[in-house]
Amino acid sequence: MKTVLITGANKGIGFESARQLLQNGFRVFLGTRDLKNGLNAAEQLKADGLVNVEAVQIDVTSQESVNAARKEIGSKVGALDVLINNAGISGIDLDSNGQMVPQTAVDTEIAIYQKVYDTNVYGPARVTKAFIDLLHHSPEPRIVNLSSSQGSLTLHSDPNYLYYHVKGVVYLSSKAALNMYTVNLAYELRDTAFKVNAVSPGFTATDFTGKNGGSIEVAAKRVIKYALIGQDGPTGKLFCEETNPDGIGEIPW
Ligand code: NAP
Repeated sequence: MKTVLITGANKGIGFESARQLLQNGFRVFLGTRDLKNGLNAAEQLKADGLVNVEAVQIDVTSQESVNAARKEIGSKVGALDVLINNAGISGIDLDSNGQMVPQTAVDTEIAIYQKVYDTNVYGPARVTKAFIDLLHHSPEPRIVNLSSSQGSLTLHSDPNYLYYHVKGVVYLSSKAALNMYTVNLAYELRDTAFKVNAVSPGFTATDFTGKNGGSIEVAAKRVIKYALIGQDGPTGKLFCEETNPDGIGEIPW
């Protein structure tokens, strides 16, 4: 039975990815920064007959928490087949009228960059570094980094891009950094069985978007596709079926 760790899987796209991978016969380590929320999420899945799921406390901004999760999972399995770096935040604050404060390059406080990068950039790097040895023990290891088409420098420079006017320097630059992290990681692992890709789920109705957007089921399907790819599958690529629905959905970095 294949194993997967999904960070931030107590809700949203991570939770639905857990459900779909359970349906595909995986043993799922459901990463959650608040263990109580993760245990509740795991119970929901078990109630649906998807029993091979265990909640694991993991705050991707805490080295101590990541180390503890690595120790816990390593005590249960000899190999990890798939890591999905899903946990992410927008860092967008609301003003006193409940309106979103734009993340402008001119005004945004550095503390907001630090908070968002700690989760969206250092988080995947921290978790990948901690789990890479366990992934190496899998015959076909996969790493999927949850990115966004909005992290594409090429698309965000193109006035015809769907979200060209949806700027926001902190979140978007964090995903651009994650994209470059993915390119480097895939390159370093190019002579191994690893497949390392970045996937944009598309605009999806979760807490992240105030429940605006498309279906979570479709988003998770786009994500788990890259957890399930075979040895002939791609590596070191960025995919977004929302902005490039043709073919396999590859988009430029
Ligand atoms: P969501 O519903 O807000 O879920 C985010 C998850 O990340 C939650 O489980 C949250 O845990 C967790 N998380 C946040 N900070 C964490 C930390 N420090 N350590 C561990 N877990 C942490 O968001 P979503 O829409 O499912 O987003 C999932 C991923 O997709 C993100 O990386 C996001 O950037 C990306 N994405 C989303 C969209 C979209 O339209 N929804 C579009 C493009 C990309 P708590 O419950 O404890 O807060």
